Amino acid sequence: MAGTSTETDTIAAVSTPPGRGGIGIVRLSGPQAASIAAQLVSLRQPLEHARARLADVLDATTNEAESGNAARIDEALVTFFGAPHSYTSEDLVEISAHGSPVVLELLLRRAIALGARLAEPGEFTQRAFLAGRIDLTQAEAVRDLIEAQTLTQARQAAGQLGGALSRRVAPVKQSLVELIALLEAGIDFAEDDVDVTPQSEIARRIAALTPPLAALEASFARGRIVHDGLTLAIVGRPNAGKSSLFNRLVERDRAIVTATPGTTRDLVTERIALDGIPIELVDTAGLRVVLGEGLEEAEQLGIARSREALADAAIVLIVLDATQPLNDEERTLFSAVEGRSSLVALNKSDLIAARQSESPIAASQLDGIAALPTSALTGEGIPALRERILALATGGAAAEPGMLTNLRQHQAVSTALAALADAAKANAAAIPHEMILLDLYRALWALDSLTGQTTPDDILNLIFSTFCIGK
Ligand code: GDP
Repeated sequence: MAGTSTETDTIAAVSTPPGRGGIGIVRLSGPQAASIAAQLVSLRQPLEHARARLADVLDATTNEAESGNAARIDEALVTFFGAPHSYTSEDLVEISAHGSPVVLELLLRRAIALGARLAEPGEFTQRAFLAGRIDLTQAEAVRDLIEAQTLTQARQAAGQLGGALSRRVAPVKQSLVELIALLEAGIDFAEDDVDVTPQSEIARRIAALTPPLAALEASFARGRIVHDGLTLAIVGRPNAGKSSLFNRLVERDRAIVTATPGTTRDLVTERIALDGIPIELVDTAGLRVVLGEGLEEAEQLGIARSREALADAAIVLIVLDATQPLNDEERTLFSAVEGRSSLVALNKSDLIAARQSESPIAASQLDGIAALPTSALTGEGIPALRERILALATGGAAAEPGMLTNLRQHQAVSTALAALADAAKANAAAIPHEMILLDLYRALWALDSLTGQTTPDDILNLIFSTFCIGK
């Protein structure tokens, strides 16, 4: 969409998901929203701000119907929000009809015929943003809230929508603007004997800007995981108990568990939420993922897929059979995952306990990878395993309000920090204030792009195009 040139159009979309449902909503926004709505349906009472009105959806427009009795094909509830007190800050109308795709499409076609234009993805929210009702981080939060798969993700998005991130940035930006004003004044009035700000004062002020931004940048470690989730691959020799552990983790009998080695031929994936963080579990086709030789073609195929999954996974869970000594394949596995986030489950710990013996696998053989005794059979050690996975996933970073959740936000903050570091260096080198200002403006621009004040149109369009239509 071409940004500002289309602002005065009235846009229309079906805002409920495609398909059939109890109700379906057609949304209109723009100067003609109310007048189009009044022709779209036969209102039983005039529209009034923030009031729901009953209306009949006729088999013809109200104009066409005036002459005769057009049949009613649905009943609708019409809610009008007058500018600027609406989602988009424009006149906005929501028509709730029964969720029949044919009725909703009829309403939409009719709205277009009456002068509305089909809304682009995210255009309602973009209008709210362009009107200054919300900033860019809040607009992104609308999308995140809709796409949330766990309640934790929804809470995070709701916080951001409420301005949690913007509030963290605002005081930093304020101090930065004050510093810029101070240096600008020193330059503008240099001949009027205005005191030039001492180098130490500038250094102090720049230094004070850094910690809150650094904390914000660090919040991405957790924020990104909450937002994106991650993948965990389960590997180990056949019969070690991978599928059983997988089922324990997902708490459902999803993977097929058998006592015959090597039955997990294909990838089985399942999403779980640990502390609200979505984690995709991938049960791989056994240890031969890493080694895979002398196998049938079909098996090779599954293994190639598993290898990919293993390479992509953020965390690798190695499942060992605690009753069996390590074999060569398993030792190879340890070197294959070196340097990656991995953990070991010493599974079948119930058998070890029953035999009142020790596992033949010694901790010293595990290449320093943390090992947890587990029993997929009794469930012992599963809560600890979940906790360990969570700790690996988040790197120990705690949840906090106003975390950065996407790369765009992270880049903006990193750019601001880098520019401030340059400013500090320039100041220390007693470089003229004009030059220090260039760095400070760069930092300001970066913070403004975070909230959308200086984000170029093409980037904005890119962001809003990731929304659904009707939002
Ligand atoms: P996979 O080939 O690694 O996926 O192993 P499975 O999950 O299919 O398990 C192989 C066999 O070991 C099955 O008979 C399971 O019931 C059994 N098994 C799995 N985990 C445990 C455990 O913790 N304790 C005991 N005693 N048996 C287990």
